[in-house]
Amino acid sequence: MIQKTKVLYIVGPTRSGSTIFANIINEAEGFFNAGELIEYWDRGLKWPCSCGASTRSCRIWEKVIRDMNLPEADYLKIGKFIQSNSHSTLVPKHLLSGKTKHRDGNRSEMLDAIGRLYGHVRNATDSEIIVDSSKNPAYAFLLGSIPGIDLYLLHLIRDSRAVAYSWQKKKQNLWTANVVETSLVWMLRNRIAEMMGRRKGARYFKLHYEDFIAKPREVLESVFQFIGTSNTKAPIENDHFARIGINHGLCGNPVRFDSGLTRLQLDKRYVRMKAVDRIIVTTLTMPALLKYGYPIRMSARP
Ligand SMILES: [Zn+2]
Repeated sequence: MIQKTKVLYIVGPTRSGSTIFANIINEAEGFFNAGELIEYWDRGLKWPCSCGASTRSCRIWEKVIRDMNLPEADYLKIGKFIQSNSHSTLVPKHLLSGKTKHRDGNRSEMLDAIGRLYGHVRNATDSEIIVDSSKNPAYAFLLGSIPGIDLYLLHLIRDSRAVAYSWQKKKQNLWTANVVETSLVWMLRNRIAEMMGRRKGARYFKLHYEDFIAKPREVLESVFQFIGTSNTKAPIENDHFARIGINHGLCGNPVRFDSGLTRLQLDKRYVRMKAVDRIIVTTLTMPALLKYGYPIRMSARP
């Protein structure tokens, strides 16, 4: 019988606070923050691990790579397979048909390799739950079709204006994007994540990043309950601090390299966004902002 790997998959728009959330939950017993595992097959192994070492010399990834025991050509093949199956626009079709795209004849072989990756990460870290902050909805759909994976979707939502502002800032390896593009992707990814949550048998947890910052202990306890590890202690000190240790996540926001005692607080710099940009984002994302309970006037934020 296959030993299933529990995966807590963060799904939703990028720049929603997933890196800080994953860094903190990594401190809870049984959890391992693997970063963005969708990237494992290509740049995930080219960029440094969050511990600061190159991935090939990090003790975790060095073991995973060895256990995977695949030639470079397979890495390329699997990376391409994931790329062609991870466009958000494919998900509505998948949801209707219940299947992923079949263009690649070696689909089951690819899915088997992806499933083995999660198993090897679990074994290399001796953890119970792998936290994957890939966020890509179509890739989540792919993971959901792998028999060795027990998928738990954590839909992370953050105010669209904060997300758009983050996308405007140039930050190390991160790209920038204009507010129209950011708004449309924000709407699409949130909508798709909700659709996936409504699927029969889906395990889905909706989390507002702002709630996590306001009540981190309560939120983490709810997440533990959701995934079935309610005896785990939330790694939160004095209500609003977390002591972040060394992480070994792949890719993601540069804050992944941060460690030490961290105060959890909302980054409110986005209120400095240019008025025209704020109006564009607010207008384009208004239906979802209202549905999610965000104030339309930014000055009204807590
Ligand atoms: Zn590492």
